[in-house]
Amino acid sequence: MNYCSTRGEIRGLKFTQAVMMGLADDGGLLLPESIPVLSAEELRRLSTLTYPELAFAVISKFADDIPPEDLREIIERSYSSFNHPQVTPVTKQDDLYILELFHGPTLAFKDVALQFLGNLFEYLLNRSGQRMNIIGATSGDTGSAAIYGVRGKKNINIFILHPKGKVSPVQELQMTTVTDDNVFNIAVEGTFDDAQAIVKEIFGDLDFKSKHALGAVNSINWARVLAQVVYYFYAWFQISQENQASQFEVSVPTGNFGDIFAGFVAKRMGLPIHRLILATNENNILSRFINHGDYSTADVHHSLSPSMDIQIASNFERYLYYLLDEQADQVLGMMDQFAHERKMVFSSQQIEKVQQEFSAASVNDLETLDTIRQFHALTGYILDPHTAVGVAVGKKLRDPKLPLVCLATAHPAKFGDAVAEATGIYPELPPALGDLSSRKRKLTTLPAQADQVKKYLSKNAT
Ligand SMILES: *Cc1c(COP(=O)(O)O)cnc(C)c1O
Repeated sequence: MNYCSTRGEIRGLKFTQAVMMGLADDGGLLLPESIPVLSAEELRRLSTLTYPELAFAVISKFADDIPPEDLREIIERSYSSFNHPQVTPVTKQDDLYILELFHGPTLAFKDVALQFLGNLFEYLLNRSGQRMNIIGATSGDTGSAAIYGVRGKKNINIFILHPKGKVSPVQELQMTTVTDDNVFNIAVEGTFDDAQAIVKEIFGDLDFKSKHALGAVNSINWARVLAQVVYYFYAWFQISQENQASQFEVSVPTGNFGDIFAGFVAKRMGLPIHRLILATNENNILSRFINHGDYSTADVHHSLSPSMDIQIASNFERYLYYLLDEQADQVLGMMDQFAHERKMVFSSQQIEKVQQEFSAASVNDLETLDTIRQFHALTGYILDPHTAVGVAVGKKLRDPKLPLVCLATAHPAKFGDAVAEATGIYPELPPALGDLSSRKRKLTTLPAQADQVKKYLSKNAT
């Protein structure tokens, strides 16, 4: 399996090269040169596998330059850190299914990808004798999932910047109570945008970048998308045991187009997803795109589902590549237009094509709270605000004849304030995290200045 860039300058990479490159050197995103399609017979064969077995079956189709026994071991280790025997279980609530993706160490779906990516990085660095210093900025979820993905790993240090005092208390504790030698939490005296700008500036210093072998863990890494493809299959196999339907729908709360793009790949591989339902909060660039072909940025709104408060969807370019029939020069043209005008324009023919595969809507905070409250009253089940966005939109847009799977992307205790506002109940952290606030912490506070962060990084890099 070879990989190419959406912008056409890079091709012929092997899987491990694509993983180590992250963002393609031509500024595009990496994709497999073809997506394998599974036969009905093969789907049947996969339907009885455990989660790690299924993950191996799916991932190995895209990763043929890692010896199978090594890949199997990496995958098994990655999912043994989940606290549910099925890793991503499905539960039926009322007339829909909830796919729980929050049983990993940081209680959000990003663990599914980052536990795998952390182990994969360690394996590849060990094999090549290289080292890596990961640097990233977080508004909450990605940082903790990335830290848990690489804590204690050899040849990798990780530096995560968060805006001081501006992430939720649980998120801050999750990051700063990891005291492994290779983990460096930096509270920046500024906003999330300041933190992100610092990271961008540091990556832009190419000498510094190569001197310290800087790496990133943001959602543009193909291995993250790939790991997420697996649970779409797993969900279908679980619900089809009790369902005669030949197709299903999924509702995905998204901001970066990452999670739903993984569903798009699963659909292309032959998984019988009738339509992908895309759910956004008030930051609705993606639902505007799907409903009206209007892909233009607006100001970021702060919402009750902060992990989806995004205006530029970093994985969108991957979908654009398929929408434009894999014409890299056209992708380049559209991305260029977007860089200059902050918008892309689509023809009615293109919009029609998009709507054959996706439907979309956005909900505001009030509707999010209402959904949490009503769902709890009806079923006793507590949704986190991100999941509630997906449930609200799924209910609105579903085909009632087909089973609906809603992706639950975070544990409700991670966003306890919103849940309490909706239901009056403050959800408890799972037992493994109950003592979070009494653990030892490790944290450095720095001014919002790139050279200060660079100095700190130079001193602590591996
Ligand atoms: C990151 C995140 C999302 C959005 O994921 P995308 O990659 O943008 O699709 C949704 N919910 C939670 C809880 C998240 O952490």
